[in-house]
This record gives sequence, structure tokens and C-alpha cells, in this order.
Amino acid sequence: MSQKFSFALHATDGAARTGVISTPRGEIRTPAFMPVGTAATVKAMMPESVRATGADIILGNTYHLMLRPTAERIDRLGGLHKFMNWERPILTDSGGFQVMSLASLRKLTEEGVRFSSHIDGSKHMLTPERSMEIQKLLGSDIVMAFDECPALPATDDEVAKSMRLSMRWAQRSRDAFGDRPGHALFGIMQGGVTRELREESAEALTRIGFDGYAVGGLAVGEGQEAMFGVLDYAPGFLPEDKPRYLMGVGKPDDIVGAVERGIDMMDCVLPSRSGRTGQAWTRRGQVNIKNARHQDDPRPLDEACTCPACRNYSRAYLHHVFRAGEMISGMLLTWHNLHYYQELMQGLRDAIAAGSLKQFVADFHAQRAMGDIEPL
Ligand SMILES: [Zn+2]
Repeated sequence: MSQKFSFALHATDGAARTGVISTPRGEIRTPAFMPVGTAATVKAMMPESVRATGADIILGNTYHLMLRPTAERIDRLGGLHKFMNWERPILTDSGGFQVMSLASLRKLTEEGVRFSSHIDGSKHMLTPERSMEIQKLLGSDIVMAFDECPALPATDDEVAKSMRLSMRWAQRSRDAFGDRPGHALFGIMQGGVTRELREESAEALTRIGFDGYAVGGLAVGEGQEAMFGVLDYAPGFLPEDKPRYLMGVGKPDDIVGAVERGIDMMDCVLPSRSGRTGQAWTRRGQVNIKNARHQDDPRPLDEACTCPACRNYSRAYLHHVFRAGEMISGMLLTWHNLHYYQELMQGLRDAIAAGSLKQFVADFHAQRAMGDIEPL
């Protein structure tokens, strides 16, 4: 196994790319979808089940883990991989985004962000240096630079100011990260939906030099059209030989559109979160298992799916356990959703390698347009 972090591009189809990221903890096939393990668990899933869906890497949240159980405690207990029993690669976010969305009494300065915990009100300070320290204590394989994502709506001037602060923080993150063989540091491009700002941000990051680059500040409520508008040009500003990560995306059609535009990695709570609220994602779109139409239906959620929820259980059962508030409901639907997402990624990788992405995307949209199977 590789002792270094590296990225090999194997094939391209239009702007889309497929390849492999190698790390000492294993390979990540790209385009990759990363399930979110916020609090050192992908909710309702055992780690071996997450792996069984085809996930090569998961994401952990710095903000949540620094507050509870704390990075220092996880470090004393042998690091995040051992703590949560996931031996494969882990990417951690910088905490910046969640501080802005979850914490109270935030105060943003050049130094960093001072805030109160949403759990117990305790006071904390997150800076680029502290974020690097926490992610090191966790033992993260892919560390994210500390950045600021401006709340929308924002004026061009506010977006520019915020982006330039993030670029100064990117340099401080790079300096604090130091030289850690086998571990990667990704920079995060900001600049909202303004092409010139995106370009300026990409140039600043490339000058500093990172192991990979994220497109940040999207999937924050701007809508799919605006997001794709940025992705039509922004990935092209980034070095071709490094992985490109779109943070917090998304719905299956967001993922397909992002991959078509040259994105290599994505993460989202959607498949796991919607699994716990009775929502399933299938080749034929979204299925609401709460709906009474399923209560006598002996058919699986998706007869072509090979996940345990579809192989061994009927729609009627999935409907029943959701209605009864049984824990297995969230477990089975989360498993199915993660399995569906990983199968979609495999399909995308195969199609790019075969040069048939256009056909794959056309079939993807055609199947979804059919909608769910007819009720019995
Ligand atoms: Zn399934």
C-alpha cells in the first residue's frame, strides 16, 4: 500500500474525470461519494455496513468532535479511526462552516472565530492553527483548510472580503499543517457566484500549493442552476493533477451534474438523513415510504437493488416499521440510500472510463423521469 498521498487520473470524458487517490489507509476511487459521520458515526450504520455499500472514505465534522467528545480525548483513545472502528480514509472538515451555521454568539476577526457551543454554551476559539491542531489530533487523512463561507445573500463586496480573508487563512492553514507524509491538506476556493473572484481565489490557493482543492461556498441555498453555472468554469481554474472536492453536495442529480463538470469528490448528509425520515432514493427518483400506498405492497423498494433492504424486505414492511417508529426503519433506509449513492458513483466511474458518460447521464434522467413504480 502507498505510504504517500497521491492522485492518479485514469480517464476523462468531456470535463468528467475518473481516477484513484492513494493514501496509506487505502485507495479512494473517484468520482467518490463520502458518507457523513458527523459525531464519529454514520448514523444508523455499523462501519462495516458503510464499507459494504462501497464507500472508500467517510467524512467527520471537526466542529462536533471538538465539542464532544473533544479532539484531545479522541487522541488519547488512539485517534478517530480506532475510536469509531473505521480503518479506511477519513476526511475532516475545518469546522468553519458549522461554526457559522450552528454556534451562537459568534465573533469573527482576522484571528479566527470566537463562539459558544450549541451543546452547553462553553466558549471556544477556532483559528486556522487550532483547526489544523484538532484535525491532526483526530488523525484525519485529508485535512481541510480553515475558511469562512459568507452567509447568503451577500453583496459582491462582502463575498470578495470574505474570500480574501479565507485566502489569508489558507496560507496560515498551510503553515500550521507543516509536513506530514501520508496526510493531505486541501485548500478551499471561495468567491460566491462571481467568476473573477473564483479565479482570484484559485490563483491564491495554487500559489500556496495544496494536495487537493475544494470548491466551497456552493450548495448553500443558491440553487442548482447557479451552482452548475459556477461549476461550468470553476474546476477549470484548479490544477488538473489534483483532486477537486465539491463540499456538501448533494441530491443524485446534483452529483451527476457536478461529475459531468469535473468534480472528483463529494459529501452530503442527504442519503443518511433522509433514510431516517422515511425518504428513499432510487433509480426512479424519490420514494416516500410513509405513504399509505405502500402498506400492502409486497414488492421491494427497488427490485434491481442488491442492498439488504431491497433483497430481504417489502415496501409493506418498510412502511410498517417506519410508522411504528422502529429503529430498523432508519437502518434499512439509510443502508439502501448509501448503497444507491455508491452504485451511482460506480456507474459514473465506469461510464467515464468507457467514454459513455453522455449515454449514462441520459439513461439516469430518463429513468428518474418515469417516477416510482405504479401502485398495485
Ligand atoms: Zn436497496
